[in-house]
Amino acid sequence: MRTVPAPMTRAPASPFAPTFAPTFTHGDGSTPAGSAVSPEDRLARAWAALEAVPDPEIPVVSIRDLGILRDVAMADDGQTIEAIITPTYSGCPAMSQIEEDAGRALEAAGLAPWRVRTVLAPAWTTDWITEAGRASLRTFGIAPPGQCASPAAHGGNVQPMRFVPRQPQAPAIACPRCGSVHTQELSRFASTACKALYRCLDCREPFDYFKPY
Ligand SMILES: [Zn+2]
Repeated sequence: MRTVPAPMTRAPASPFAPTFAPTFTHGDGSTPAGSAVSPEDRLARAWAALEAVPDPEIPVVSIRDLGILRDVAMADDGQTIEAIITPTYSGCPAMSQIEEDAGRALEAAGLAPWRVRTVLAPAWTTDWITEAGRASLRTFGIAPPGQCASPAAHGGNVQPMRFVPRQPQAPAIACPRCGSVHTQELSRFASTACKALYRCLDCREPFDYFKPY
């Protein structure tokens, strides 16, 4: 099906091509991975590879669903796949690990040349966590963050933005286990700085709450 020409970077008369091609020809026997594929194809593969990378701290959620993976694009040189990631907060200790994991995923998918670029602005917000990511957090026993900036995404519950100090007591946080909103904050910081420790007053279980910001 693929009729795209080989990228310019691939020397057409490479003496290695005939030897190498068969080793990469799995499945439908079409274009060998990582060589004569279109830039669009490589980008699609890069997305697929990176979507499978789990967050190191919350492995049930991918870096895509957490909103850490911002974009996958072709660099200006027209060859290098560039994955753009934004840390959940500056100084997040998991960040170098995420860079490594993303790079490893691209390498394993045969997508070289690639690079992983960390972009700090705009700053990551919990609003970037996808619905799938929120569901996974709940399954993992972590109450997902409430929406900061776009309440419209939550059933049209739109409220005007007011510039007031953040309430010391957050709105009712539902227990991820039993759904009860009779919960109590025990500590502003839980297993990581981006979570708070809560306790459910009904099922008595403690749980982490992913703080919105
Ligand atoms: Zn509960």
